[in-house]
Amino acid sequence: MRKPIIGGNWKMNRGTPHESKEMLESLIPLVEGINNVDIIIAAPFTVLINAYEILKNTNIKLGAQNMYFEDKGAYTGEISPSFLKDIGVEYIILGHSERRDIFKESDSLINKKLKKALSINLKPIVCIGEHLEEREAGKTKEIIEYQINVTFKDLTSEELQRVVIAYEPIWAIGTGKTATPEQAEEIHIFIREILKKKFNEETANMIRIQYGGSIKPINAEDLFNKENIDGGLVGGASLQANSLSQIIKAADNSYR
Ligand code: PEP
Repeated sequence: MRKPIIGGNWKMNRGTPHESKEMLESLIPLVEGINNVDIIIAAPFTVLINAYEILKNTNIKLGAQNMYFEDKGAYTGEISPSFLKDIGVEYIILGHSERRDIFKESDSLINKKLKKALSINLKPIVCIGEHLEEREAGKTKEIIEYQINVTFKDLTSEELQRVVIAYEPIWAIGTGKTATPEQAEEIHIFIREILKKKFNEETANMIRIQYGGSIKPINAEDLFNKENIDGGLVGGASLQANSLSQIIKAADNSYR
């Protein structure tokens, strides 16, 4: 049985020490004692140090939303993975569709970042997913397979087992349109089939695949009850302690 993982992706929100502290201090008691779910908050860089102090003796782990693939050097404005690791960041979101679409990150760039993250034991959450036009053109599986082939190029099975995949249909992110549990499950099964072909059955069965795209307390349980959906990456609903804790509890209930 795979342990579900819920990641709260704050994006460019809750970025001041005051507002992040308030949110985290509300969340901590609401999810205390939940040990069957890995709980991650991926906060903006500006609050990571404070967030680490607040979260350090709790069951909530710290994540960041992006990194570069070098440790040091003349890369103005970029963020070093080893700096993140040094301040207590454990998880790293890579290849979010906003990074791909707005900042033009390619699958091969994400592959470099992924290898770097693995090499220093940051735990990667790698996002993949199709645009609406691609789904409507019947190309979802083709796109997903391409993203897997390039993003996970030259990884060993052992490395891949340390990755969490977030299947995030781009048309469902921040739109209020959720994929149905059946639509999501179909693609999660497909992802495992590709991984089985490309790596092996053990890896395909072990790897955790989250769903992301307008998860709310109202739809979380039906999604997480699907056999191949191992929790979720949550944007909008992760900004309020109450809604995020309900989603975490739905993941906890799905773990049997
Ligand atoms: C996300 O940012 O990864 C996401 C899924 O956002 P939302 O939950 O707001 O759709």
